[in-house]
Amino acid sequence: MVTLSIFPTYDNNENGFLLSQLFRYLLLFFRRWAVLVALLSVVSSSSFASEEFFPRLDLAGIDQVSDQEISDNLYVYEDVEGQASLEEVLLSSLEWQTRNRSSSLNDLSEESSSGVWHRVKHNPPNFGYSHSVYWFHLPLLNAAHFSSDWVVEVAYPVLDFVDLYVVKKGDVQSFYKLGDKQPFSNRVFEHRNFRIPVTLSPLDEVDIFIRVKTSSAVQVPVRLWSYGGLMKYDQIDILIIGVYFGLLLVMALYNGLIYLTVRQRSNLYYVFYVVSYGFFQASLIGLAYQYIWPSGVHWNDQSILVSLALSLVFGTIFIRSYLDLRLSSPRLELFYRGATWLGVVCIVLSFVLSYDLMIRVMVFSSTVICLCAMAGGLYLWRSIGRSIQYFTLAWLFLFAGGLILALNKFGVLPRNLFTENASLYGSALQIILLSMALVEQINMERKKRFAAQQRAIVQERLAREAQEHALALQRQDNERLEQRVQERTAELEALNDKLQELTIRDSLTGLYNRRYLDTKAEEEYKRAQRDRNSLAVLVMDLDNFKQINDKYGHLFGDTCLVATAKVLSDNVQRTSDTIARYGGEEFVAILPGASKEKARYLAEMIRLNIMSLEMTFEGKRVPLSMSIGFVATKPKEVGRYEELIKLADEALYKAKEAGRNRVIGADDSPNLD
Ligand code: GH3
Ligand code: MG
Ligand code: MG
Repeated sequence: MVTLSIFPTYDNNENGFLLSQLFRYLLLFFRRWAVLVALLSVVSSSSFASEEFFPRLDLAGIDQVSDQEISDNLYVYEDVEGQASLEEVLLSSLEWQTRNRSSSLNDLSEESSSGVWHRVKHNPPNFGYSHSVYWFHLPLLNAAHFSSDWVVEVAYPVLDFVDLYVVKKGDVQSFYKLGDKQPFSNRVFEHRNFRIPVTLSPLDEVDIFIRVKTSSAVQVPVRLWSYGGLMKYDQIDILIIGVYFGLLLVMALYNGLIYLTVRQRSNLYYVFYVVSYGFFQASLIGLAYQYIWPSGVHWNDQSILVSLALSLVFGTIFIRSYLDLRLSSPRLELFYRGATWLGVVCIVLSFVLSYDLMIRVMVFSSTVICLCAMAGGLYLWRSIGRSIQYFTLAWLFLFAGGLILALNKFGVLPRNLFTENASLYGSALQIILLSMALVEQINMERKKRFAAQQRAIVQERLAREAQEHALALQRQDNERLEQRVQERTAELEALNDKLQELTIRDSLTGLYNRRYLDTKAEEEYKRAQRDRNSLAVLVMDLDNFKQINDKYGHLFGDTCLVATAKVLSDNVQRTSDTIARYGGEEFVAILPGASKEKARYLAEMIRLNIMSLEMTFEGKRVPLSMSIGFVATKPKEVGRYEELIKLADEALYKAKEAGRNRVIGADDSPNLD
């Protein structure tokens, strides 16, 4: 016989008034009797579990239960007030079953108004954001003759309150208070989803009641696992999750290292984005709650909001930095800057406003940002190159992942490993593609820098060549200039020499002039003084030259002077000797080292040679003669060469006096001739 005496009192402490409590108990009492009557009539009709009016999911001999099978056997009841206790729910379920005894399955599924039981249309049931409490009823049956162990799972870890009741013939066998607003230690199985064990004895009937109250979207994916099936599923599931978070970790580390080497800002923002998005996913699938903050009951909901808002902040900062919007598009920059600040505001508001409002705002903003990033990428698709293509595809995949998941939740797409994890796959692809986009961007920068470097090298080479060419030209010019300078210098030197010669030579005879003689004689005199050497001076004068001039003319006189000079040059040949025209028809010879004898001999030779000169004027010989006075002595230590000239001149005078055409030395006695 069915007893309804052990119902636990469900907490409804908001109703504190004694009268209303009393009224409720009376009502409950009455309804329990009504149900008892109904149940009795049901039992008396021989089969409580008869197919035609109360289908149960028969677990006998099966290993796996499909979503379809669950949705065919899962019933839901919306408690708008949120006040109903399990007894009331049980009663209402029984009432409803009784009412629909004769209804067909199709009729059952048609009903959908709140406050009335109806069958869920698809698994997972999704009621969006709602303040109502939802009750689910899953009637099970084990028609086999051996017991069977199962796990009931509610696979949406963000649900706030999930109370699970295992009811056998109206008796609560076990009760679990789960949900992410309950400490993690409440869980029977340490898993991010809500799981409870159910054992069905042979020919056993069990009713699973699930009470859900949540500020998140009311999605209640109910699953039923045999232990074997669960183990198989979990392996793949944990593998996918492990690969996903491993990928995130590797990408964050890799790009962090790239940032440390290349110092490209967008790599750093990427790392922040990946980390915050990773936290969002970990919070969303309940992993963070399980491993990071298992007792952080209040923080748990907020962690989803905060990490999503952080993803929004860093995602938009990353986009701004990656697309370099400040320079390329100030308007878009403003838009994304606004989005960044929206993210910041959302972080603050998530501590103040309700979860369901905030999550809706953020999901909407994230979708818009994602679409805008995609649109921006498409806009720049051709102009930037492969890196922007990766970037665009990245956001496309993230969006597609979210879309597939949403379509799956709303029953448009079937539930399988692909659609269930679509957002993970999309996000993984996005993160890989964004990293590729960053690498490609660095590559492009490097190529650009390399090309610029090459250009600079070529330019430098050209400049060097031009410089070398200029230098060569300059060197040539210098050489030419130097050559010309040398030529000019040589010319000038030659000219100078010529001038020098001119200044020291007598123009008519070519002999040295008096000025040169004076200098030279002075030098020789000093040298002779120094060397205590002898020095001879000859003073020579043509005889009666005035007459020749007068008789034959000045020109002939010149010819005679030239001839005389020749005689002198021929006879005075030692390089140390100097012979000069002293003035008019008077000549002087300086003979360093010459003795008196030598001087006299030379003078005589000159006199004789003059005499033998064959000077003719108009066919007639004109005889010439010359008087010579000389002196040969070792110069005194004090004294000047003019004294020697004077002595020789005096000797010459004596020669003239003595009758001309003769040689007289300064020391000669007066009566020598
Ligand atoms: P003496 O025997 O005493 O020396 O008699 P002289 O006629 O030679 O003496 P004087 O010194 O009086 O004459 C020198 C003459 O030489 C005067 C001048 O007409 C002549 N004479 C001087 N210089 C030149 C010259 O450059 N060319 C020519 N043709 N005659 C000159
Ligand atoms: Mg004379
Ligand atoms: Mg004279």
